[in-house]
Amino acid sequence: MTGHEPTQDAIRIDTGKPHPARMYDWFLGGKDNYPVDEEMGRRLLALDRRVPAMARTNRAFMHRATRWLAANGVRQFLDIGTGIPTEPNLHQIAQQAAPDSRVVYCDNDPIVLAHAAALLRSTPEGRTEYLQADVRDPEAILGQAREILDFDRPVGLSLIALLHFVPDEDGAYELVDRFLAALPSGSYLVVSHASGEFDEEKASAATEMYRRSGLTMALRTRDEVARFFDGLELVDPGVVLVPDWHPGLGEVIEVEGGPVPGYAAVGRKP
Ligand code: SAH
Repeated sequence: MTGHEPTQDAIRIDTGKPHPARMYDWFLGGKDNYPVDEEMGRRLLALDRRVPAMARTNRAFMHRATRWLAANGVRQFLDIGTGIPTEPNLHQIAQQAAPDSRVVYCDNDPIVLAHAAALLRSTPEGRTEYLQADVRDPEAILGQAREILDFDRPVGLSLIALLHFVPDEDGAYELVDRFLAALPSGSYLVVSHASGEFDEEKASAATEMYRRSGLTMALRTRDEVARFFDGLELVDPGVVLVPDWHPGLGEVIEVEGGPVPGYAAVGRKP
């Protein structure tokens, strides 16, 4: 947990290679990114002009899914792969619906820790915390989250635009199972995930670009995304293209030039 303002010593920002959180921030028009991130962002843009719209589409899904969970009684959230704060953040949406909502944020990138103060402005009735950890270390995350969240009551676990950074070799499916095993019946899993299904050539060019920058990109098919929900009850409309998940609950970003290559879904633990 942060608990207090992080010291500069604790935050080592590596500006020698691009980082997903900072590239995502650049695509969203934020200022918390560096020339390496912009350079990689521009190379991805050259491959597909729609990348910034994809980022906005994804962020809009987070808003709608959080609203849906709040409307369905969820008051506790564990958001892993939070990203650099971008308003509205998840807790702002959840606490707008229910001011006593509790949110634990987690990311492994020190740039998010550097800006975590914006994630800690909770309502007085609710609570928010930020912890810096890697999703591949579920025990550390669950151990700390338990100090804030009551694991006897449902938790919304959001892994939004995160799992495509976790390859199967790192145990992506087992990790999700481990998190869900710790949560009670009535908890939800929220996922959005980039896919290479619509243009395999572009997808492999992008994956290669990431690899050369020292980053892993694990694009998955619709079926592979659906596998994260094995054993859960999928909420209607199931595993769908990101803009097609409950468009009525918020902003839908219009993107020209074919479907945005990513899937979204929400599932309930029975
Ligand atoms: N969930 C946010 C941000 C998505 S960008 C949103 O949808 O708007 C993906 C985020 O996942 C980045 O902030 C990146 O730092 C984080 N991330 C990538 N790999 C991670 C890992 N192994 N553990 C924790 N966070 C990770």
